[in-house]
Amino acid sequence: MKVLILNAGSSSLKYQLIDMNGEKILAKGLVERIGIDGSRINQKVDGKVFEATAPMKTHTEGIQWMLRALTDPEKGAVTTMDEISAVGHRVLHGGERFTASVKVSEEVKDAIRDNIPLGPLHNPANLMGIEACEKVMPATPNVAVFDTAFHQTMPKKAYLYGVPMEYYKKLHIRRYGFHGTSHRYVSKRACEFLGLDRAHSRIITCHLGNGSSLAAVLNGKCLDTSMGISPLEGVLMGTRSGSLDPAVVQFIANNERMSVDEVLSLLNKKSGLLGVSGISSDMRDIDAAADAGDPNATIARDMLVWGIRKYIGAYAAEMNGVDAIVFTAGIGENNTTLRAMVMKDFDYLGAKLDPDKNKTREEAVISTDDSTVKVCVIPTNEELVIARDTLAIVTGQPIAD
Ligand code: AMP
Repeated sequence: MKVLILNAGSSSLKYQLIDMNGEKILAKGLVERIGIDGSRINQKVDGKVFEATAPMKTHTEGIQWMLRALTDPEKGAVTTMDEISAVGHRVLHGGERFTASVKVSEEVKDAIRDNIPLGPLHNPANLMGIEACEKVMPATPNVAVFDTAFHQTMPKKAYLYGVPMEYYKKLHIRRYGFHGTSHRYVSKRACEFLGLDRAHSRIITCHLGNGSSLAAVLNGKCLDTSMGISPLEGVLMGTRSGSLDPAVVQFIANNERMSVDEVLSLLNKKSGLLGVSGISSDMRDIDAAADAGDPNATIARDMLVWGIRKYIGAYAAEMNGVDAIVFTAGIGENNTTLRAMVMKDFDYLGAKLDPDKNKTREEAVISTDDSTVKVCVIPTNEELVIARDTLAIVTGQPIAD
C-alpha cells in the first residue's frame, strides 16, 4: 500500500510518497510559489529529479503537477495514481475537537474551517490541500493528522491562561501546543529505544528547530507543552520571540505607532534568534558568529539555552522527576554545542552528558553510563507518523497512540 503525505502551505505543497510495505520513501517533492509568478515543482525519486516551472494558479493545479511528476514514466514513482491508496494531510489546528487523526468528511472539513481563527495562516492552506486532492483524486480517501492532537491530554491547570473564564468558554482561548506529531513520535520511540515502561515514564521532549517546543510526557500522555494558543509562546525560536510579557505588545504598538497585528507579525517573523542577533534565524550562523565573538549572537544563543533549561527544570518539577530528556529536530539532532550548553550543570537532577557520545547526529544515548536520567537524540519523523495513522484509519485498524 502506498500512502501520500501532504503538507500544504499557503503557496506550497510538500509531499512524500511512502510504500507502507517496509515504510520506504518512494518520492519526495515540493511545489512552490502556487498563485505567484514562477510556480515550480521539484521531485526526487531514487536520485532522479523531476523539475518543471509552469503556471500553477491554485492548489488544485499544484496537485495536478504533483501527480504528473509522480506518474512520470521516467522520473516518477508509480505507474498510475490508482496506486496511491490514501493521502495523509498535516493539519495545524484541530482545536479541542480533535484528539487523534481522523478520516476527512464534510463534517471534519467544517471543523477545520471552524478552527481557522486559531490557525489563520495554516488551516486555510491545509483545507485547500484537502479539497484539491478531493477534486483531482476523488476515489482516494483523505486523513487529517493534527499538530495539536497529542497535547489534548493536558490538564486544565496546564492549558488555561489566567484570563476571565468567559474568554475560554466564548473564544476558546487556551494553550493548545504544536509539533504534537513529533513529541508523540519521539517520546514513544525513546521508551522503546531505552527500554522504559511507557505506562510509567517521565519524558521531556525538546523539539528544537526553526520553530521550537518542549513537552512533558507523563506515562505516554502529554502533561504540558511550551507553545500556546499559537506557536509564538515558549522558548526563543528562529524568528519568533517566544514568551514575553504581553505589555511588550502595548509598548511597541504605542511607541512605534503599530497595530496589534503588526506587532504580532514582528514577534513572529522578525524576532527570536534573527531579531536579537541581527544576523540570522539559522542556528548554524548564530553559532559561527558567537564562536567568532559577536556579542549579539552570543546573547541570542545564551537566551535560547536559558529558556530550554528553564522548561526542563519546570517539567521535571511537574512530573516529580524525569527518566529521559530527548533532543530532536534540526537543532536538537545536529547541534552538539547547544546540547552541551543545555545539559551543563544538570547533575543535581541526575543528568550528565558524555562529551564523546554527544558527538552523534543519530539515534543514540548521549548521557554517561552513571547518569540516572537518560539523555538521548531521537531523530523525528512526522511524515512516518502521518503515514502510519493514515494506513491504520483507511484499513480500519486502531491508531497507535
Ligand atoms: P528544522 O526547523 O527542524 O528544519 O531546523 C532548522 C534549524 O536546525 C536551523 O536553525 C539549523 O541551523 C539547524 N540545522 C538543521 N540541519 C542542521 C545541520 N545539519 N547541522 C547543524 N544545524 C542544523
